[in-house]
Formats: sequence, C-alpha cells, structure tokens
Amino acid sequence: MAPLRVTLCSSNRGKLTEVRDTFPDWEIELLVASTYPEEDGETYLDNARIKARHGRSSGPSDRWMLADDSGIELAALGGNPGVHTARWAEGEHVEKTLAALEGDEDRRARYVAELVLLSPDRQELTGRGTLGGTIALEPSGQGGFGFDPVFVPDGERQTVAQLGERWKAQHSHRALAAQALRAALGS
Ligand code: IMP
Repeated sequence: MAPLRVTLCSSNRGKLTEVRDTFPDWEIELLVASTYPEEDGETYLDNARIKARHGRSSGPSDRWMLADDSGIELAALGGNPGVHTARWAEGEHVEKTLAALEGDEDRRARYVAELVLLSPDRQELTGRGTLGGTIALEPSGQGGFGFDPVFVPDGERQTVAQLGERWKAQHSHRALAAQALRAALGS
C-alpha cells in the first residue's frame, strides 16, 4: 500500500519528529506558515479538531490532516490543568507542579492525548491515549520534556524523563493514542 500522505497541523516543529517516529510508514510534512485559530475547546478532542479542520481548509487538499492535543490532569486539583495545561505551565512545568502539590498526600496524575485525522474528503478518525501515574517529590532524569522529570508511570519506579524516548515511543499517552488511531484506520 502507498504510504499515507499526511500534513501535521501543529505550530510546534518538535512534534514533527515525534509523530514521524510514531508513524514511520507515513509520509508526514508540517503545515507551514499558518496562523491557527485559538484553541478554546472544552476537551482535548475539540482542540485537536480545531487544528485539523484549520489544516483541512487551508492546507493541501490531497493530503490527510493530522492534529493532536494533550495535557496533564492532577487528581489533587480536581483534574486540572487538563485542556489548559499548555497555558498553565509555560516553561515552569516541574516547579509549578511541585508547588501545587506541596504537602498533598494525593499525588495521582494522568497524561491524556487525543489525535484527530481528517481524510481528503473530511472523514474523521480519532485516537485517545492515557497514561496514569504519580508526581514524584523531586525531579529526576534528562529525557522527555514538560512534566516528564516528575511523572512516574503506574508500574514503574522511574520518572518518564529517566525511562527515556524509547520507552515513550511505546508507552506514552501519545503512543497509545497513535495505536488507537491506527486501529480506527484499520492499518
Ligand atoms: P499541547 O498538546 O502541545 O497543547 O501540549 C499540552 C501541554 O501538555 C504542554 O504544556 C506539554 O508540556 C504537556 N505535555 C503533553 N505531553 C507531554 C509529555 O509527553 N510529557 C510532558 N509534558 C507533556
């Protein structure tokens, strides 16, 4: 089968590498020089859809449009910051999380990722992935990004930053969302 020709609708160039690693059999390019509408949806799915639909109306009409949205949910904060994660942390992920949970017994957390894929004729496929864990008392590890230095997945004794990229490529919320999307696509 010819590789799926996909345009990734993201203003974050770093995601291109990660998504290419996740779908090595697809031919993926980035939607360039694009001003995205505000991500003001109430769910990750809404926000991923906003980006994918923007790509569908402004990008090449013969390619599939892929977009993602993700965040972290802290049990002690009633599931926040959730869909507002990107705005909540802005470069101070670790500091802000440790400060928010200081003295709190409940350190449960969850990463969530949602992917939306739109076909050239606007058929929609989605995939969701979650990764449960706890927030460590202090940061460890050099891998990953964002909250990874303090996120210890359930069943593991190390943070995601210690477990590293190869672990993430198989087990992360985004990897699980990608598997679900592949299943929806039947490939
Ligand atoms: P967005 O999906 O680009 O909107 O990112 C949402 C937020 O979630 C960002 O602040 C990221 O730092 C955080 N985030 C999403 N996935 C991960 C991950 O795998 N590790 C660490 N932080 C993540």
